Amino acid sequence: MLRTIDHFIGGSTFASGERQGDVFDPNQGQVQANVRFGTAADLQKAVDSAKAAQPAWAATNPQRRARIMFRFRELVEKNMDDLARLLSSEHGKVLADARGDVLRGLEVIEYACGIPQALKGEYTQGAGPGIDVYSMRQPLGIGAGITPFNFPAMIPMWMFGMAIGCGNAFILKPSERDPSVPNRLAELMKEAGLPDGILNVIHGDKEMVDAILDHPDIAAVSFVGSSDIAQYIYSRGTSHGKRVQAMGGAKNHGIVMPDADLDQVVNDLAGAAFGSAGERCMALPVVVPVGDETADRLREKLIPAIQALRIGVSTDPEAHYGPVVSKAHKERIEHYIQMGIDEGGELVVDGRGFKLQGHEEGFFIGPTFFDHVKPSFESYRDEIFGPVLQMVRAKDFDEAVRLPSQHQYGNGVAIFTRNGHAAREFTARVNVGMVGVNVPIPVPVSYHSFGGWKRSGFGDIGQYGQEGMRFWTKNKVVTQRWPDGFVDAGDKGAFHIPTFG
Ligand code: NAD
Repeated sequence: MLRTIDHFIGGSTFASGERQGDVFDPNQGQVQANVRFGTAADLQKAVDSAKAAQPAWAATNPQRRARIMFRFRELVEKNMDDLARLLSSEHGKVLADARGDVLRGLEVIEYACGIPQALKGEYTQGAGPGIDVYSMRQPLGIGAGITPFNFPAMIPMWMFGMAIGCGNAFILKPSERDPSVPNRLAELMKEAGLPDGILNVIHGDKEMVDAILDHPDIAAVSFVGSSDIAQYIYSRGTSHGKRVQAMGGAKNHGIVMPDADLDQVVNDLAGAAFGSAGERCMALPVVVPVGDETADRLREKLIPAIQALRIGVSTDPEAHYGPVVSKAHKERIEHYIQMGIDEGGELVVDGRGFKLQGHEEGFFIGPTFFDHVKPSFESYRDEIFGPVLQMVRAKDFDEAVRLPSQHQYGNGVAIFTRNGHAAREFTARVNVGMVGVNVPIPVPVSYHSFGGWKRSGFGDIGQYGQEGMRFWTKNKVVTQRWPDGFVDAGDKGAFHIPTFG
């Protein structure tokens, strides 16, 4: 009998939804659980519960709200091993990486522990005669988050940590492919003292997403996932007057200058291109050496490093990466490898056909490396989201800046160099949202904000940090005058716009 994963509404599990989805064990290639797909009626139950609880939560002073975040942080740390195991059993990422997934989310919870400071408004005394002006950040009411499979702990925490810290109630619709960890996080929030109804988890697919986008009582939607869906979420959500931020796919480039430390670059690239089987929106699936001489030297060092990578089950402590998330995704990656060959790329290391002994049905795919990939290739323009590294040779620095700048995605980019001037030029000119200098995966720390450009991000406010706080609140500005008790006979009211200058 398979386990069934229910919704979590109003502080308890809630079993509803006739349709169900399969949750796989990617190591074995077998279904290990079923997740319920909720309906609009189930969403209504979550909204009712959120609506009932939110006013009191918003009225709870921010320091008390922060205390719950502190307790949650402790509970997540205490449960780290269990969370990492659960996460890796549904996603397939290796345990150390699963812990990283939880830890990067926890960093945003730590930021939310400081929410009283982040929410402080601004104040001007004496903006006019006897007039003071101040601003305050107020919660929106009910927010929703729709999250992808590849970070089932981190991305929900990015969203609910900030939304709830700011005084909102939150409804999370996690990926249906690895839905268990989000439920567990909601249980831990309850254990930390969060009032029932402030964090609800509702499972489902497009039907549930559409119900969220159309619901009149949901004020804001935060989405992370692939770009076509992100664009759809952005247009449908905003057409209903919601505030929407929708982060999309990526194709991040790593520029390698002739003076770079190539041994370091090879180490960085191995982790950034193949870690988590390439299923990261901040992975580096494209390497751009500047000049053929750099490309040849890099290629020589890269090939043995790629061939030495160890692929194993997600619980294997020696494995560099585990299986990809599903059979369909594995087939999609293999399709792109074939496309890369047909388009004229040189397949230097072929990961297709990889079988792990004893796990022949698992969704494994070996590391793959292409050289001589051209910007015109569809396999270059599209996101593959697998353990596939493509080398695009640039003739000079200008071309190396142009490639990521002209790509449809603009999430992350990195430059490897010892030349400060080149790095400075590159960071200023490149048309991409997050830049690393000798840092392969430049995911900003929690007190900065995360956000890609072009088709990697729809809407203009980033995730977490001060931008996250702005996304989950609205600004109110008060202009006040307190007369000193006597009426000035000359003050007869004005019919022109007040000016205080
Ligand atoms: P996805 O777009 O398939 O799914 C994301 C969410 O959207 C899920 O909750 C899913 O249920 C829902 N969804 C799927 N199809 C839908 C539809 N037709 N209508 C409405 N909702 C739908 O993404 P995924 O495969 O889970 O995740 C991988 C993608 O996410 C990659 O493209 C990756 O680059 C991207 N990603 C981006 C970031 C970022 O911050 N930019 C971070 C992580 C992942």
